[in-house]
Amino acid sequence: MDLRKSYSLKKHNTFGMDVSCAAYVEYGSVEELVKFFSAGRQYDLPRPFLHIGGGSNLLFTGDFPGTVLHSGIRFISVSDHGVEVGAGTLWDDFCLWCAENGFWGPENLSGIPGETGAAAVQNIGAYGVEFKDLVREVRCFDVVTCSVKTFRQAECRYGYRDSIFKQSAKGRYIVTSVVFNLSSEVSPRLEYGHVKAAVERALSESSKEALTPGIIRSVILGIRDSKLPDPAKIGSAGSFFKNPVVPKVFYEKAEHYAKSKYGQDYEVPHFDAGSGFVKIPAAWLIEQCGWKGYREGNAGVYEKQPLVLVNLTGKAVPDEIVALEKKIAGSVLDLFGIELQPEVEHI
Ligand SMILES: Cc1cc2nc3c(=O)[nH]c(=O)nc-3n(C[C@H](O)[C@H](O)[C@H](O)COP(=O)(O)OP(=O)(O)OC[C@H]3O[C@@H](n4cnc5c(N)ncnc54)[C@H](O)[C@@H]3O)c2cc1C
Repeated sequence: MDLRKSYSLKKHNTFGMDVSCAAYVEYGSVEELVKFFSAGRQYDLPRPFLHIGGGSNLLFTGDFPGTVLHSGIRFISVSDHGVEVGAGTLWDDFCLWCAENGFWGPENLSGIPGETGAAAVQNIGAYGVEFKDLVREVRCFDVVTCSVKTFRQAECRYGYRDSIFKQSAKGRYIVTSVVFNLSSEVSPRLEYGHVKAAVERALSESSKEALTPGIIRSVILGIRDSKLPDPAKIGSAGSFFKNPVVPKVFYEKAEHYAKSKYGQDYEVPHFDAGSGFVKIPAAWLIEQCGWKGYREGNAGVYEKQPLVLVNLTGKAVPDEIVALEKKIAGSVLDLFGIELQPEVEHI
């Protein structure tokens, strides 16, 4: 168990915010975690408590006055029950391991930053696959009863970037490991047209006949690399806003706006969300308001993807990101009447 006081979180959030917490605890096993809580050690530490992973979906808006917990439980083990992965294992290390060992399942989710425990909380998703499609069980520590509890997939109540761990069970359960259903049978997920085309290109270029999870992983990493900033080079937390789901009338207004600007053939990107609702990509709305590539002080909007707010110089302070967030959301509201909600968790 590693306990630090007045600890810098700069390396623990991909936005690179230079903030600190009053205390930081990293544990290496479930036993250590159980011992820590059963001995009542939490009562000696500053409140509130926050469990973080790699900090890739967090925006610290200032110094954190409480205690930050972090998992050092890192392992991947195979049994008859499935493949179990420690919560502190980097998600992409697991994806790489699967590709190297010929397991199908997470290859489309390759390259998503963060840890496996948080992936279970977030229900991460990309290129037609979500975490929920792969998981069998999520093993947790219950901080209220000081006992371990296993959630079966259906009990996790997964939704779009959502789970019970973000809703009614928030703060109560610490994910300690995840058990996955993986397959060694060839089972590619190529519903996304451009992924399919890129995979076909990769196969013909490499003159390989058999499709492997490793080939799909390489293609996905290539696509991500061309669109998203590498957190090791430019600070960000990925998609900053959720894609709004709005009554159809808002889509019709956006369509009217776009057709009068770009011509009658123009199609506003959208997805039918049922019951008279439509999902409009937040990136499109933000781009229409002229933010793509915008820069203000140390903060900015990524030039290749307007949904990503970035710490351009590495010196941005939380207020600069929050000010930009407000300006962007305000302009989308003014132009389209649509309220954007942050995807990134503000701490
Ligand atoms: C460049 C970039 C690209 C991204 N692309 C994608 C993408 O394609 N798809 C996608 O879905 N997301 C994407 N993200 C968002 C992010 O990577 C995911 O949300 C990821 O799962 C967050 O993991 P983390 O370990 O960094 O968690 P954190 O950001 O540290 O935490 C996220 C949440 O999980 C909780 N948590 C963390 N660990 C535990 C635990 N062990 N037990 C209980 N609660 C815990 C935290 O309290 C917090 O509520 C991207 C982010 C970046 C920076």
